[in-house]
Amino acid sequence: MPETHNRMFEKATQDAADHLIQPWPSAGSVGAEARGMLGSGEGVYVHDDRGRKLIDGPAGMWCTNVGHRNEALADVLKEQAMELSYNSPWYTSNEPSAELARRIAGHAPGDLNHVFFTTGGSTAVESALRFAQFYNNVRGLEGKKKIICRDGGYHGSTYLSATLNGSQRSRNWMDFADELTIRLSCPDPFRRPDGMSIEDFRDQLVREFAAAVDEHGAENIAAFVGEPIMASGGVIVPPDGYFKAIREICTKHDILFIADEVVTAFGRLGHVFASEACFDVVPDIITFAKGVTSGYFPLGGMVVSDRLLEGLRASNHPEAMYAHGLTYSSHPIGCAVALKNLDILEDELLEYTRGITPYFHERMKALEELELVGEVRGMGLMACVECVADRESHNPIRLDTEVGVRIDRHCQELGLLVRPLVHMCVMSPPLVITRDQIDSMADILHEGISRTMRDLRHEGIW
Ligand code: PMP
Repeated sequence: MPETHNRMFEKATQDAADHLIQPWPSAGSVGAEARGMLGSGEGVYVHDDRGRKLIDGPAGMWCTNVGHRNEALADVLKEQAMELSYNSPWYTSNEPSAELARRIAGHAPGDLNHVFFTTGGSTAVESALRFAQFYNNVRGLEGKKKIICRDGGYHGSTYLSATLNGSQRSRNWMDFADELTIRLSCPDPFRRPDGMSIEDFRDQLVREFAAAVDEHGAENIAAFVGEPIMASGGVIVPPDGYFKAIREICTKHDILFIADEVVTAFGRLGHVFASEACFDVVPDIITFAKGVTSGYFPLGGMVVSDRLLEGLRASNHPEAMYAHGLTYSSHPIGCAVALKNLDILEDELLEYTRGITPYFHERMKALEELELVGEVRGMGLMACVECVADRESHNPIRLDTEVGVRIDRHCQELGLLVRPLVHMCVMSPPLVITRDQIDSMADILHEGISRTMRDLRHEGIW
């Protein structure tokens, strides 16, 4: 790496440690943490501050779907900035957001025909939750306030969206609106009770859902919010028929079904939206973000059904205000980038993703031959390697061994960025990944996990 480059990175690392508060820091390192720096990217690769070329295994945060350094997106970003860089969505509108709303409505299932744009995933979920509250208040159903969510789910970092998050580790030290939630079990087939079939496990989850509705009363429940596949929870694919059964209960009890497709929408599962295409359900609201611009601009949103809007219009308060909006709602640059991104998905990448998916899983699944690996699971271009202490009992490996971080460290030395999740590693590469690059990814992971096994044995941990 050139010397000047090196010095630039050193300075940036020092500046970050001195002044930058990074997301999700521990109390001892708030504003004082030097994380690895990335300098540039191209396609599925990123280059880091140590001069290494790494495959971007997690696609940033499940988002760089068309890959890095896409010229068409970069051009549109500049063109739109030179045309109209911003307009207030309070009292004006712009062409890119109107066209994008129409095209998204065209892809959304059922009668989901209306789009509200936000700045990302948290604000998309927050907007959907506040919309659900508004919808019920306007209809005179002010009691319907509770939100059903699940262990293992992740929905964001704003107050209400974060309240729905299911990871215990992230809940210990923060405050939440817990009085608003009903928390149900994680639909993780790998952790189902011993000897239970997947079908029985599904039925048990559905019974739990129905029982919660009975216990709390449908008149007190506004919505169910769920990721079609729990992403940050470890790529949890629920049993077949689970969402369909929950959808039926929701419909019966006037509980809104909100699908959080922040990760699964815009190509990750080979479709613009996954709810209907992969799980055969039509939600009342779908939230999206990330892949909508492939990470080139912060944008998210929600798609709302005709039925909900008709409910509002038919209420006794058609003049009531949905007092909710963001300075950057419908941002013209974000929406222009999203339009070009959608062109790329429609023209080639959705089909390509569906085509390459079986090979990706074939190579990932083969990692199960390693003793440390309890399960490799996933769907579309999403996979998770879950490490266990014991393959018979599925006992998770001691969490403080940070086995995911260890695997990531080894893989980075070998040319692959991994997303470590305590005892799991998540893989969700840019959708443009080739067979050869999948081979590299799988080979490096195999070696990284093997080296980790050797270290753990050497340290007497495993
Ligand atoms: N919902 C889901 C399913 C997510 O995975 C995330 C982010 N990982 C969010 C919401 C929050 O999105 P953002 O970080 O863009 O606010």
